[in-house]
Amino acid sequence: MLLIMQANLEDDDPALRHTLAWLQQLPGIRVQPHHIQGASQKLTELYLLGDTATLNAEELAALPAVERVVPISTEYRVLGRHSDPQRGTGFDYQGLRFDQDTLHLFAGLCAVDNRRNVEETMRALADHGQPCTRMGAYKPRTSPYSFQGHGRDCLPWVFELAGKHGIRVIAMEITHDRHIDEIDQALAESGQPTGVMLQIGTRNTQNFELLKAAGRQQRYPVLLKRGFGITLNESLNAAEYLASEGNSRVVFCLRGMKSEFGAPHRNLVDFALVPVVQRLTRMPVCIDPSHSVGGRERAPDGVLDLVHATAQGVVAGANMVLVDVHPRPAEALVDGPQALQLSELGRFLRDVEISRQAYLERRQLWKEES
Ligand code: PEP
Ligand code: MN
Repeated sequence: MLLIMQANLEDDDPALRHTLAWLQQLPGIRVQPHHIQGASQKLTELYLLGDTATLNAEELAALPAVERVVPISTEYRVLGRHSDPQRGTGFDYQGLRFDQDTLHLFAGLCAVDNRRNVEETMRALADHGQPCTRMGAYKPRTSPYSFQGHGRDCLPWVFELAGKHGIRVIAMEITHDRHIDEIDQALAESGQPTGVMLQIGTRNTQNFELLKAAGRQQRYPVLLKRGFGITLNESLNAAEYLASEGNSRVVFCLRGMKSEFGAPHRNLVDFALVPVVQRLTRMPVCIDPSHSVGGRERAPDGVLDLVHATAQGVVAGANMVLVDVHPRPAEALVDGPQALQLSELGRFLRDVEISRQAYLERRQLWKEES
């Protein structure tokens, strides 16, 4: 059972305190409050856990400061929709809105290599009016002998350059909870010039201790990749680990499944699940066409496979696109062969715009018909 409270309640609001005290006396029931800072209001939700079968919904709805009562399934308790279309989705971060109605592009380097490439990429994004990027500092690699990323050493200058070029959010993978502290420290020392969305990669989707650490902190939202060899349900439960620890600012990313059935693509593209994740949960949904397709092959129509895959995700309502670009793909230390060139960025953005427009028209069409 979930109690959605009236908006903008302070913690010491007498009505809220009264209701909490009443609930806490119920035998066999545990009350777990969740606070969500929305675009214009602060929301409080009270989760009633335990033996809820005996509770009377009408009685709960009559308690002070309760707006409505929503029966919830145990699955995806915080992030799930629970068949309530009124429940808000998403969050605000760095002046940007991330929800199931918005779309943001995070183009950037799979791995930070040198200052020149980072700066040229950020300048190109700024020239195209883009406030977000991706920059890998900590790289989980299949081989221990491959480049592992520059780690904390590159953070000061990556953050400084982001500030210089008006980049407001960097998606950055972490592979250890220590990396959160390193990011904290580098941002503090450089005067908070930008924001970070912590990325948890497909190899760590079920690294529960890492999920708990990223969930315990509230400073950074988290971009969680779907595990490449587990079910969707298992990956959504991994997202719920973040929320159950207190951080419900989570974006869920589809990045393809490890399967020979996707060949010659690197992974089997799974973007048909964009609307499914939106239906099951309140998370904004990201697609990563670069790691799904993993190459720059081109269809006979002249369009790159990875651009076609992007269009499929966006036309299905994706809310974020994570894509590798590189000023000199041949020099890239990780995943150069799948990177878009900076000279292709403008056309790529235009392509995304066309697909987005098609999605908005399709959505309208089905609203009118229903
Ligand atoms: C990445 O985005 O850099 C990455 C390693 O992706 P994934 O975790 O999906 O393989
Ligand atoms: Mn990569």
